[in-house]
Amino acid sequence: MVIVGAGMAGVQTAVVLREEGWAGEILLLGAEPHQPYDRPPLSKAVLLGKAEGSAFDVDFGALGIELRLGVTVSALDSGERRLETESGPVPYDVLVIATGAEPIPLPGSEGVPGVHLLRTLDDAERLRPVLARQHEIVVVGAGWIGAEFATAAREAGCAVTVVEAADRPLAGALPAEVAAPMADWYADYGATLVTGVRVDAVDENGLLLGDGTRLRAGAVVVGIGARPATDWLAGSAVDLSDDRSIAADERLRTSVPDVYAVGDCASFPSARYGARLLVHHWDNALQGPRTVAANVVGSRTAAHTAFSVYDPVPYFWSEQFGRFIQYAGHHSEDDELVWRGDPAGASWAVCWLREGALVALLAVGRPRDLAQGRKLIERGARLDRARAMDPSVPLKSA
Ligand code: FAD
Repeated sequence: MVIVGAGMAGVQTAVVLREEGWAGEILLLGAEPHQPYDRPPLSKAVLLGKAEGSAFDVDFGALGIELRLGVTVSALDSGERRLETESGPVPYDVLVIATGAEPIPLPGSEGVPGVHLLRTLDDAERLRPVLARQHEIVVVGAGWIGAEFATAAREAGCAVTVVEAADRPLAGALPAEVAAPMADWYADYGATLVTGVRVDAVDENGLLLGDGTRLRAGAVVVGIGARPATDWLAGSAVDLSDDRSIAADERLRTSVPDVYAVGDCASFPSARYGARLLVHHWDNALQGPRTVAANVVGSRTAAHTAFSVYDPVPYFWSEQFGRFIQYAGHHSEDDELVWRGDPAGASWAVCWLREGALVALLAVGRPRDLAQGRKLIERGARLDRARAMDPSVPLKSA
């Protein structure tokens, strides 16, 4: 068993394989030199120096998992069942691809001094002293990472301007009316949000915006999205989707026998939502490996006929501007939106209904709504709209 990628999905796959009774060798290959670690703290406690690191608490040796770190896999020859690395070929019987995602750079900004991305521990460690110097910081992109970074930078006492090409924050994730109240959070926290303007050029002194404005910056942090880390599969027989994710099936198998894919690098068909989903959130990297491990072990058991199908209710959280945001499910723009509470207040939620059934929920400072809503979504339960609108009444099926 060889697993490529030692992030959450790769590590979790190795651990769950042992739990499921996989007795054979497990080799975990990771490009980064560090002991495998968790990413969410990078834009939170690690960035602010409140935590030194976020290494996973896993005893790889005791579990019989061989870790090879600082090893980048450059190609897959599935005919020969072999991976190519700088230090030579690595054969496999079963392969799990968990190479995650990589941040999209701002065009023209690569190599410019003072321009940063935030994906790895090394990125966070480079940014810590930048925050400590209390520079004027410009963040490009008002998505989840941009908002979390802006929060940390404000908490460190930096002057922060966030530049967003869309007309609102989180434009790719939430409808305009839900994102609108979130735009105010930036000003409440002392950050400036500039929307509807593109970055034309970047140099070591700052940015030139499409409207001619020049923004001075001691540092620029780019958070304009991430894409599956699958370039190394070019020329292999593994099918990719248009978004460059590995097109896994409902059992998280790829188009190549005995090759599975999981986490940020893979999309999967969801019968629950009638769509292929590419989920770039932590819970997906935690849950998907259970399906992979069950199917890997199952496929080697002669009597095994019941396969594990991956069709989760996606979940994620974000901590930004002193708020705890959680989202469960998956909505589309055709779904009916039901407000629960006043978005000007400290806590509120939004429900998305499809033919009366709850399909997704966003909760701001309402963890109980999230917990109740997630169960209702899993059951496909119908909601009484009038009750759902009343935040003093627990969420219950109709
Ligand atoms: P990754 O964590 O990307 O791990 C993949 C690993 O594979 C990497 O270490 C990479 O170096 C390695 N790799 C890639 N290519 C190769 C190769 N060719 N050969 C060998 N190794 C390779 N999600 C939430 O739900 N809530 C949050 O609050 C949240 N905060 C986040 C904050 C930050 C700063 C970031 C970056 C992400 C955050 N996420 C959050 C998302 C979450 O961390 C990811 O969804 C999760 O890390 C995905 O895990 P993964 O193992 O699939 O991929």
